[in-house]
Amino acid sequence: MANKLIYFFGKSKTDGNGDMKALLGGKGANLAQMTKIGLPVPSGFTITTEVCVSYYKNGRKAPAELAGEMEKAVKWLEKETGKKFGDVKNPLLVSVRSGARDSMPGMMDTILNLGLNDATCEGLAAATNNPRFAWDSYRRFLQMYGDVVMGVQKKHENDHEPFEEVMDQLKKEAKVKDDTELSAEHLQELVKRFKKLIKDFTGKAFPTDPIKQLEGAVFAVFSSWMNERAILYRQKYRIPDEWGTAVNVQAMVFGNMGDDCATGVAFTRDPANGENVFYGEYLVNAQGEDVVAGVRTPLTIAEMAKDKIISAAHKELNEIRKTLEKNFGDVQDFEFTIEKKKLFMLQTRNGKRTALAYVKIAHDMVKEKLMTPEHAIKSGDPEALNQLLQPIFDVVAYEKARKEGRLMAVGLPAGPGAASGSVVFTAGKAEELAAKGKSVVLARIETSPEDLRGMIASDGILTARGGVSSHAALVARQMGKVCVAGAGDIEIDYHKGTLKCKGVTLKEGDHISINGTTGEVFHGAIATADSELKQVLVNKTMKPKDSKVFQYYDFLMKLADKYRTLGLRTNADQPDQVVNAIAFGAEGIGLCRTEHMFFEGDRIIAVRQMILAKEEDDRKKALATLLPYQQKDFEGIFRALDGLPACIRLLDPPLHEFLPQHDNKKGQEEVAKQLKTTVAEVAKMVSELHEFNPMLGFRGCRLGILRPEITEMQARAIFQAAAVVLKEGIKVKPEVMVPLVGFKKELDLQVEIVHRVAAEVMKATGKKFAYTVGTMIEVPRGALTADEIAESAEFFSFGTNDLTQTCMGMSRDDSGSFLPAYQNLEIIKANPFASIDRTGVGQLMKIGVDKGRSTKPDLKIGICGEHGGDPSSVEFCHIIGLNYVSCSPFRVPIARLAAAQAAIRHPAKPVAAKVIKDTKSKTGATKSKTSVK
Ligand code: PEP
Ligand code: MG
Repeated sequence: MANKLIYFFGKSKTDGNGDMKALLGGKGANLAQMTKIGLPVPSGFTITTEVCVSYYKNGRKAPAELAGEMEKAVKWLEKETGKKFGDVKNPLLVSVRSGARDSMPGMMDTILNLGLNDATCEGLAAATNNPRFAWDSYRRFLQMYGDVVMGVQKKHENDHEPFEEVMDQLKKEAKVKDDTELSAEHLQELVKRFKKLIKDFTGKAFPTDPIKQLEGAVFAVFSSWMNERAILYRQKYRIPDEWGTAVNVQAMVFGNMGDDCATGVAFTRDPANGENVFYGEYLVNAQGEDVVAGVRTPLTIAEMAKDKIISAAHKELNEIRKTLEKNFGDVQDFEFTIEKKKLFMLQTRNGKRTALAYVKIAHDMVKEKLMTPEHAIKSGDPEALNQLLQPIFDVVAYEKARKEGRLMAVGLPAGPGAASGSVVFTAGKAEELAAKGKSVVLARIETSPEDLRGMIASDGILTARGGVSSHAALVARQMGKVCVAGAGDIEIDYHKGTLKCKGVTLKEGDHISINGTTGEVFHGAIATADSELKQVLVNKTMKPKDSKVFQYYDFLMKLADKYRTLGLRTNADQPDQVVNAIAFGAEGIGLCRTEHMFFEGDRIIAVRQMILAKEEDDRKKALATLLPYQQKDFEGIFRALDGLPACIRLLDPPLHEFLPQHDNKKGQEEVAKQLKTTVAEVAKMVSELHEFNPMLGFRGCRLGILRPEITEMQARAIFQAAAVVLKEGIKVKPEVMVPLVGFKKELDLQVEIVHRVAAEVMKATGKKFAYTVGTMIEVPRGALTADEIAESAEFFSFGTNDLTQTCMGMSRDDSGSFLPAYQNLEIIKANPFASIDRTGVGQLMKIGVDKGRSTKPDLKIGICGEHGGDPSSVEFCHIIGLNYVSCSPFRVPIARLAAAQAAIRHPAKPVAAKVIKDTKSKTGATKSKTSVK
């Protein structure tokens, strides 16, 4: 490899800095940065992500020069620390940790105390005059190395960890409860038993040469990049496999040398609610992994100030807390160790936080000028905003549960919100019940990264051990899951499948309810209620001034609007949906699916009459019955929009969708009765309408072309509604959209009808109104001939649901049977029906945009497929220069933030920048017809 493989950080030199995350990983870059700004960081070196990438490219083989470079680096570190690898008198011990570009907490492997063997352990005991500490460090090293490098792991989900079992047995023999009560002799015995376990389990002896140990550890870290949980995590958070991980090798400092030592994890602000308080926890006489692994429940950081021995470190940490925020411009999540009263910083990274904490921290830190507004926007996960709409416990049901004495335990509030569901004890069961549509609370003694699948499937997570920085809490917060951690009073028995507390025993599947905001655990179900944000914006049962959450959210959304260049619309077909979407920030309707209105009340009878009619006259009669219904619907929508644009699509689905099929004889009997015909007649029509592939059959504009009276009725309903609402003094902006167009001529035939009807309505009502007629681009031919189609279209809207289905030749309804396997095999990176396949479907979109604008440079183009609310797709729409995205009402805030992020990430003026932004203001002029030709 031509590039530098290893970067140093230490007293004598530091090669990297905080901006080098791609090369050094987040951990490595920040260690270098902390060293640079003078914080107390133990020296070390970082093997770059490029080495990992090369390792995988060459069939899991490291570059030839790595071994030599590593030896040189060890020599440098020996000089830095004055200690020596393998030295019996003064041994150098190191930690080996992974560190990807984006942090992946707990997903990859870590090894501490590397460099120990029987001889160096004795040396360490003598040098520190603390044999207990030396043997404790050694047994920890054997445990981690045995697990991570040599594969000594439990075989089944219900098994206990092999090393834990050996330790529990020894604790039993020694009649002690806590690890800290084990004496040096006990630990020496434990080391013996651990070595035997490794030998018995693997058939190999534990390696004693520190350089060999280091090589094994480095490769194990590289390998952990491809372990199942890391892959799953990357899929969930869309982290590319190609990034690889860096490896950090750092001189050890010890938090387990006695009561003047400690180790801890802290956040510069509360990551659960965003409050500006120093938040964290620590364990006296322990090593870092103990806090994160949740083996012992730690003390809160505030308690450190009262600790007579180490209170000075608390003061220093409080200062560092400020330095970190100032230097890194965001809330930091950091690890520290106190070795004989001296403080060391082991890592720092931007703290993962709940959506509530995100909006509060962004609000506060921007105002405090500690965070740039760009970072406030960029650092949020748009998808997580959903959490702000998540339910809380219904007040009455909650009080009732308390009065009934159903409170079982109180743990630590680790992930806010309320969850109520069936309790399960394994990740597998959680997945199984969730797949059946059940709400699930996963209860574990403590969680480990293997539980990730179960955590994803669960509504809530409950652990008996571990603090607010435990793996469970960390992952839960990031996923926006409700979480109660460290509920020490509960007893979980995996073998029996029970959870016991205060005389109550819950079996797997029984109901449990947890409050992640207070830490309470109740047995039985508790109903949930709407979140504050929903109460302010949707139900309007709370005033904005009474809700802090709303105020923080509103601050952030308004900030996002300053950056966003994409317009925002919603897919809605009812006035109440429109009102909600506008409250969330929508600037108009991007898709009104008129067929949804056909199912309401008894209008479906007229729809069926229209479908079953043999003669044009009968069809017209049925349509005449439908017209006033549709008109009223559109009036409601125009009023709710109050002058914002309404993109209304003409009838699209195949007609059989409106009739009961052959497997619904009862339904067919009902229809026969309603339409005063025979069941046989209905069944015959259903047979006639049957298509082998209805999604590619008689649907979309094909309906309106063969049955123009349908288009005529719908256009009349739209324009008559426009005239009525206009008379009330409310502005209207109808945009009539023709679906599934692949030929210019298809559009021409429909446009002609729409224009004719508009002229008739204007004449009849004496009202002139602006309107436009455009098309959806949702079949490949439409995109490929967009230049021709644009001659007849005043706007385009990408129907990416159909465009994906037709581009990929994958049914949007049936692909569920193979898509998950495709994702696992990495044939596709994400579900293409959720997130735009940029390379395939995206190309068609790009062609559609370019060709459309080659005919009409000012052509307004949007998207109304489900992708319009997906952050990555929103970014793509920004890149290719669309004017707006449209999504369901509750996804509008997500699209709003995603659009701002896209604008910050891709600041180049989008192609569409010069196009009129009529979607952005109610009063903005639309370049459209004011009268018909
Ligand atoms: C689409 O195809 O993307 C679209 C919005 O239309 P529908 O989902 O109604 O087919
Ligand atoms: Mg479609």
